[in-house]
Amino acid sequence: MKVELEADKCVASGQCVLAAMDVFDQDDDGIAILLEEQVGEDRLDDVKEAVAVCPAAAIRLVEQ
Ligand code: SF4
Repeated sequence: MKVELEADKCVASGQCVLAAMDVFDQDDDGIAILLEEQVGEDRLDDVKEAVAVCPAAAIRLVEQ
């Protein structure tokens, strides 16, 4: 599945990094950075958790 991040919505909480640190990182201002656009089954649960905990609803998973 494809991960989409709307960085302009991000409030720099860092929750996505805690949930899926191999998919998300943060820049010097704490704004999320997407490390992997495509995720397989092995990381799907982690990214779903990131979607669920993001307080800004800035992350989406898109079927392809
Ligand atoms: S969880 Fe959401 S608001 Fe927090 S850093 Fe990640 S994208 Fe930004």
